[in-house]
Amino acid sequence: DQIEQFDVVVIGAGPAGAVSSSLLNKKGHRILVLEKQHFPRFSIGESLLPQCMTYLEQAGMLEAVQASTFQHKNGAAFSRGEEYEYFDFREKFSAGWGTTFQVQRDSFDKILADEAQKQGVVLRYGHSVIACDSVNGERQLSVQTDTGERYQVQAKFVLDASGFGRVLPKLLNLEQASSLTPRQSIFTHIQDNIDEPDYDRNKILITVHPQHHEVWYWLIPFSNGRASLGVVAPTELLSKIQGSPLEQLQTLVSQGGKLAHILAKAKYDSQVRALGSYSCDVTRLYGENYALLGNAGEFLDPIFSSGVTIAMTSASLAAKAVHKQLSGEQPDWEREYSEPLKTGVKTFKEFVEGWYDQRFQNVVFSKKKSASITRMISSILAGYAWDIENPYVKNPARLSTLAELCQND
Ligand code: FAD
Repeated sequence: DQIEQFDVVVIGAGPAGAVSSSLLNKKGHRILVLEKQHFPRFSIGESLLPQCMTYLEQAGMLEAVQASTFQHKNGAAFSRGEEYEYFDFREKFSAGWGTTFQVQRDSFDKILADEAQKQGVVLRYGHSVIACDSVNGERQLSVQTDTGERYQVQAKFVLDASGFGRVLPKLLNLEQASSLTPRQSIFTHIQDNIDEPDYDRNKILITVHPQHHEVWYWLIPFSNGRASLGVVAPTELLSKIQGSPLEQLQTLVSQGGKLAHILAKAKYDSQVRALGSYSCDVTRLYGENYALLGNAGEFLDPIFSSGVTIAMTSASLAAKAVHKQLSGEQPDWEREYSEPLKTGVKTFKEFVEGWYDQRFQNVVFSKKKSASITRMISSILAGYAWDIENPYVKNPARLSTLAELCQND
C-alpha cells in the first residue's frame, strides 16, 4: 500500500495539538492530527490564564469559545486561615487580555478540535501513535486504531502534543526526572451549592491548609453551579489519611477552614480521581524533524494554572519554526523555540518553588506590597510570564528579595 504523506503530523488533540495544527494549516501546510481518545473526554486543567486568549485569537478559535457559556474569570484569590488576598488580572503590568474563562475541558477541548477541523485540519479520533522512525529524512509513524487496525503515515515534521501520554519522550528516550518534589493530587467535580454572599465566582480560589503550608486546594467554579475541587499534597502526607480518595478529599476539605464553610452544602456526585508524580521533564524539546509541545515536554505543577498557557505558547512558537523549516529556511530551534519557551517556564518554576518553600505565599498574603509590585505579580499570575519587561520575568530570583521585604511585616 502507498504510505500516506502529510507535511506535519500532530500527536494529540488537546490545546497544544489543536492550536498548533490550526496555525500551521493557516500557513497552507497539510496537517494530520492523530488523537488516541474520542472527544469529548475528561481532562484536568480547567482554569485558563488571560495570556491564552492571545493564542485562541491567533488560531481563530476565540469566537467559538466566547460563544459558549464558560465561566468568566478575572483573577486569582488566595485564602490562608483568616487571611484573604486576591489579584485582579485586569490590573497588571503587561499589555494584553485581563480576563479569561474557567472551562470544563471535555467541552473546551472539543470546541478547539472542532474549530481546527472546520479550518481544514484532518483529525482522526481513536488513532494512537505507537512508533516513530526516521526514514529518508522524514518521520514515519505507526498508528493503531481502537478497532485494532494498523497503518503507517509519513510526515516532514512531527509535533508531539500527547500530554501525559509523552509519546516521543518515551519512544525516543528523552524523559528526564523533574527537579520538583513529587506530589499527589485528588480532584473531582461537585455541585457546589455555594450561598456565601462574598464568594467570587469570577476567580479561582486557592486555599492553603491551616496547618500544612505545602498542602493546598483549588476551587474552580463553573458557570452552571458546579465546580472543580482538588487538593495537592506531598505523597507521604496523603498516604496517612484513611479511606477512599473521596473520603481523603472530604477529610482534607473539612480541615480547610473557610473552604470547609464555603463548601458546607456541596454535593459530591462525580468520580474522584487521583494523579501522582505529574511533574516531568525532558532532555531536549526538539530534534530531527520533531518538537515536543505542552505537557509532552515539561510539566511543572498545577498551583498557578499555567499548563494550558504553556501548552499554547509552545504551540505558537513551534508553529512559526515549523513553517520556516517547511518553507526551506533552517530555523535555529534552540534560539527560536526552546529558549523562548523556557523563559516563561523558568518564571513559573521560580514561583512554584517559592510557593512550596513559602517565599511566594508570604508575598501573596503580605499587606506590604506596593501597587506597582502587585501589578507585576498579577501579570505573571495572568500568564504573562514571557514579558521580559517585567522585572520578575527578567530575573525571577528577585522573588527572594521581595519575600524578605514582605516577611518583615
Ligand atoms: P493534553 O490536554 O493532555 O492533550 C493530550 C492529548 O494527547 C490527549 O487528548 C490524549 O488522549 C492524546 N494522546 C496521548 N497519547 C496519545 C497517542 N499515543 N496517540 C495519539 N494521541 C495521544 N492547567 C491549566 O492551564 N489550568 C489548571 O487549572 C490546571 N490544573 C491542573 C491540575 C492538575 C492536578 C494537573 C496534573 C494539571 C493541571 N493543569 C492545569 C495542566 C493541564 O492539565 C495541562 O498542562 C494541559 O492539559 C496540557 O495540554 P496538552 O495539549 O499539552 O495535553
